[in-house]
Amino acid sequence: MPPEKTNPKNKNNGGVPTWQTLAHKRLLLGGGVNAHDSDSASASSSSLLDVPLAVGEGGGASSLGVGVGIPGASSVREDGGASASIANRLGRFPASQEGALLGGGVPGEECEWPDLLTSKECQVRARVREYCETKVFTQAAELWENAIHPKALWEGLGALGVGGGTTPSAYGGAGLSLVGAGLVNMELARVDGSLSAIYMIAGCLVTNTIVKLGSEAQKKKYLTQLCAHRTVGSWALTEAEAGSDASGLRTLATPLGGGLWQLDGRKRWIGNAPVASVIIIWARHAETGNTLAFAVEPGSTAGVSVKTMRGKVGLRAIQNGEIFLDGATVKEEARLPGVKSFADAAGVLAQSRVMVTWQPVGLAQGLYDVCLRHVKERMQFGVPLAASQVVQHKLMLMRANCNAMALYAWRLTRRFEQGEASGPDATLAKAWVTLRGRECASIGRELLGGDGLLAGSHVGKAFADMEAYYTYEGTFDINLLVAGRAHTGISAIRPRM
Ligand SMILES: Cc1cc2nc3c(=O)[nH]c(=O)nc-3n(C[C@H](O)[C@H](O)[C@H](O)COP(=O)(O)OP(=O)(O)OC[C@H]3O[C@@H](n4cnc5c(N)ncnc54)[C@H](O)[C@@H]3O)c2cc1C
Repeated sequence: MPPEKTNPKNKNNGGVPTWQTLAHKRLLLGGGVNAHDSDSASASSSSLLDVPLAVGEGGGASSLGVGVGIPGASSVREDGGASASIANRLGRFPASQEGALLGGGVPGEECEWPDLLTSKECQVRARVREYCETKVFTQAAELWENAIHPKALWEGLGALGVGGGTTPSAYGGAGLSLVGAGLVNMELARVDGSLSAIYMIAGCLVTNTIVKLGSEAQKKKYLTQLCAHRTVGSWALTEAEAGSDASGLRTLATPLGGGLWQLDGRKRWIGNAPVASVIIIWARHAETGNTLAFAVEPGSTAGVSVKTMRGKVGLRAIQNGEIFLDGATVKEEARLPGVKSFADAAGVLAQSRVMVTWQPVGLAQGLYDVCLRHVKERMQFGVPLAASQVVQHKLMLMRANCNAMALYAWRLTRRFEQGEASGPDATLAKAWVTLRGRECASIGRELLGGDGLLAGSHVGKAFADMEAYYTYEGTFDINLLVAGRAHTGISAIRPRM
């Protein structure tokens, strides 16, 4: 069958097949990438074979011809790969349409947001955007649907020279400004929320913790590999009994003498843990109660095991794990000497929250870009959806949110870089930006109708990913309460009974 050239139901689309036509056709055909696919789809599928499948849910990706396939049953299977092949056909993500207020979206313009960014920040942003629109987009939906760690995409991102975010080049890092690292998070999230989360944890939070609180030996041992994306790092604070109440952690570190420590406890929800070569484990000194942190190598430390958490409905491609520490013995060299109290964890989390603020900005911008294209292409009642006042109203609410979110994230980050914004400023920004992001995701999902529930339309995936952004690195409520405490001088965080 030759590749589809036009949408017969759509007279005004300039002969370009819309993704929804392709989706419907694919569902009817009942397959993912198969012998009937165009050359571009086949090429993309073979590159996907580089992606290791062992850590995905359900044994792998059906449309890749591996994993869950039941011989001869392709016509009745759930079409897990159809969405991704739509991305393959379209080739790249829709161009960003940021509009005049932010100074972006003008074809051929050298630097988007020219009055807000340095030329290095512009270049970094453009490099990551190109990578995301061309490489990440074609694989993201399928990896998400099958909950597969995007190893090849992670390594490819490392080759762009953005690894480690703000980590100094002396340790192999990109040495980006905080705004530069934020832009990387934003551009990644615009196309794939999961890859952005992997980068935010491994490339920003873990590396920054080692830079700020680690020993010189730990910096030399871990940072170069992490910044080159040859390894993945993870950061473990949350526990079953210590979620929002993070300082109430129960994992214990017992000094054994002879320069050894024993770790006992359980961690939960830890991003990247199942694929990490080093995990920063936060614990409490068994005798003094002081907060401590250790760089633990799960692959070579007896008493440490990691179980992948299954069935997540957002950020499915990042692997979250439960960590079991049962008499795990680590050397004194693994302890981060800069950690003196819980304030040190809060300090690195404050910068990390500044980074997280960029993620909903990216996710919302990607939603807007996809929705804008969709409503101009999708014909109902003989006209494009964009001809409806209600649709334009919804779209412009998204646009205004995107503008405000981007400017808030940019201003917060510049002030933080200059030492003029505080932790509570970051918590307020993170909370507000995710609130607006959630509104954008909800409107975007509506604008695509039923297809807004499909991961492969991009919108279904981004809608679900926004929920995770709303909750991790402190929930919406807790972040507002932290900001509220700073502004009123009264803590309402610990309820009284
Ligand atoms: C996708 C994902 C990735 C994550 N990655 C990591 C990671 O890499 N490392 C890590 O350490 N952690 C990670 N987390 C954990 C995350 O930070 C916690 O989920 C979050 O802090 C909330 O904790 P909880 O889930 O235990 O919710 P809870 O603390 O049980 O909160 C449940 C609800 O109660 C509300 N609530 C709680 N206390 C109060 C209060 N005093 N007043 C008003 N409302 C309150 C909360 O706002 C929330 O709505 C991740 C979580 C997710 C979902």
